Amino acid sequence: MTGLVDSCLQETGKGQPLASGNGEANMDMDFTGRVVVVTGSASGIGRACAREFSARHAAVAIVDRDAKNGQQASNELRDKGFAADYFNCDVTSAAQVEQAMNGVVSRFGGIDVAVSNAGIQRYGTVVTLSEQEWDEVLDANLKSAFLVSKYAIPHMLARGGGSIVITGSVQSAAAQRNSAHYVVSKHGLLGLARSIALDFGKQNIRANCILPGSVDTPMLHWAANLDSSPERVLQACDAMHIRGRMGTPEEVARVIVFLASDLASFVTGAAINVDGGLLVPVGGMSFQESGTGGSKV
Ligand code: NAD
Repeated sequence: MTGLVDSCLQETGKGQPLASGNGEANMDMDFTGRVVVVTGSASGIGRACAREFSARHAAVAIVDRDAKNGQQASNELRDKGFAADYFNCDVTSAAQVEQAMNGVVSRFGGIDVAVSNAGIQRYGTVVTLSEQEWDEVLDANLKSAFLVSKYAIPHMLARGGGSIVITGSVQSAAAQRNSAHYVVSKHGLLGLARSIALDFGKQNIRANCILPGSVDTPMLHWAANLDSSPERVLQACDAMHIRGRMGTPEEVARVIVFLASDLASFVTGAAINVDGGLLVPVGGMSFQESGTGGSKV
């Protein structure tokens, strides 16, 4: 079918498979002629991704279960003249993800990049959590990325390759208390990225997992508001990063765009920290700044 992307390719002569490694790859992070799917792009990090990819001329598929904000995100991009569309989808449903990926291909002509970013934050230990609460988080955070990969990769292969970026967390490598299901889901996403990288690397598909620290999004504020003093939580979030502050959605989105681009053609199966240094200090920043153990600078 001759979709929007086909006509872009005719106009620009671009459309090499991502990370072709043949010296013809697009080396300027321009996504002209490329189709990018971003899940969870009605809000937060995903929405910033949609804006950053659009600014680099990708056709962007906004995939989210939040119809109001999803449609608004799509309208915002279209009003600026960018190619974008909203696809209503609960990413925990195989049928809905398959339908959404097929819908993206019908609308834009293919899929080159899939950013599996949709997720939820919940709290509990293995004793306090119900089976239903466990399943809710594992489905939303981990099964969703499996399903998006399952239904996007065949379309990428049809175009000669592609790139998958998965939004993990610093909790893909470390753990916060009282978050057993969230921690397990985020550890699993790193394993998923590595498995995809290995299974499809020879077919020109790269897969990477980013590990953000605290990022200033509605999810983070929702979590802070569970506390009797949300302001105290936000200050603690700022303080645990070497940078002394939490990240912005744009700071995370730009790394995702880089990983999806040909500039990252030799990066696959990687865990990329986008955490303002959160994972570095032994014992955390409060220990480092306590003056104990000769640690005072
Ligand atoms: P957010 O709540 O602002 O956005 C999440 C989006 O995902 C929402 O639009 C929501 O509707 C969508 N979503 C959730 N479940 C869905 C489902 N089943 N089907 C379709 N859409 C669904 O959150 P955010 O902070 O932007 O989080 C994005 C990702 O970043 C998540 O995977 C989160 O775990 C991860 N992350 C966030 C932080 C942080 O501090 N904000 C830190 C590390 C990792």
